[in-house]
Amino acid sequence: MLFDTHVHLNIDQFDEDREEVMRRAKEAGVEYMVVVGFDRETIPKALELAETNPTIYAAVGWHPVDAIDMKTEDLEWIEELASHPKVAAIGEMGLDYHWDKSPKDIQKEVLRKQINLAKRVGLPIIIHNREATEDIIEILREENAAEVGGIMHCYNDSAEYVQECLDMNFYISLGGPVTFKNAKDPKEVAKIVPLDRLLVETDCPFLAPHPNRGKRNEPAYVKLVAEKIAELKELSFEEVSDATTNNAFNLFKIKP
Ligand SMILES: [Zn+2]
Ligand SMILES: [Zn+2]
Repeated sequence: MLFDTHVHLNIDQFDEDREEVMRRAKEAGVEYMVVVGFDRETIPKALELAETNPTIYAAVGWHPVDAIDMKTEDLEWIEELASHPKVAAIGEMGLDYHWDKSPKDIQKEVLRKQINLAKRVGLPIIIHNREATEDIIEILREENAAEVGGIMHCYNDSAEYVQECLDMNFYISLGGPVTFKNAKDPKEVAKIVPLDRLLVETDCPFLAPHPNRGKRNEPAYVKLVAEKIAELKELSFEEVSDATTNNAFNLFKIKP
């Protein structure tokens, strides 16, 4: 059994065939998933999917790219939703220096606010990081994010920062890039992260793993990610799928 810890089945790329995609996930052994909402439109859709599917959970947060749009009411809304029985995490939140829609200082402020929200409600956080690892680690440390811990989602930096993330109570989640032929860092990371701190995800519809790279990604493909990790760690597929699924149950406090 596999647990895809980061999916966006709540966005319109899946409007045509969402049920089909979910059926293919089950066929591939992907029983559980967390649908991540990140703005006013995607949060209600994540909750709807979680409410109608026993093995689907939701995460609610505000994406750093849109940090500039977040109002006080949005933060209050996210805090209210945190008590929903199917909300398993706060996020995604983080820093994204690739796009320049939201200035860095606003992104940082919105990240700090969400970390503190998560500490108030006692839920783990899901961190989105693009080209901002050092600033993220500094903020996680300053805000004592270790108190709730969480996930470094689609971890895509070099192995040198892994230990610091582990020390702060974070799991490392790997996605499609670990399967890319030219991707050195995620392969190195897959080898060094202890099996009890590793998660798998698709981040679908983005980042489809090899040999589907460039196509729309979907939860069934998380199997390709787990297979590649098993090969890199010289473990069986079952060892990797069992461990990553149990890690997700522990982190999200899910009783299967
Ligand atoms: Zn993300
Ligand atoms: Zn995402």
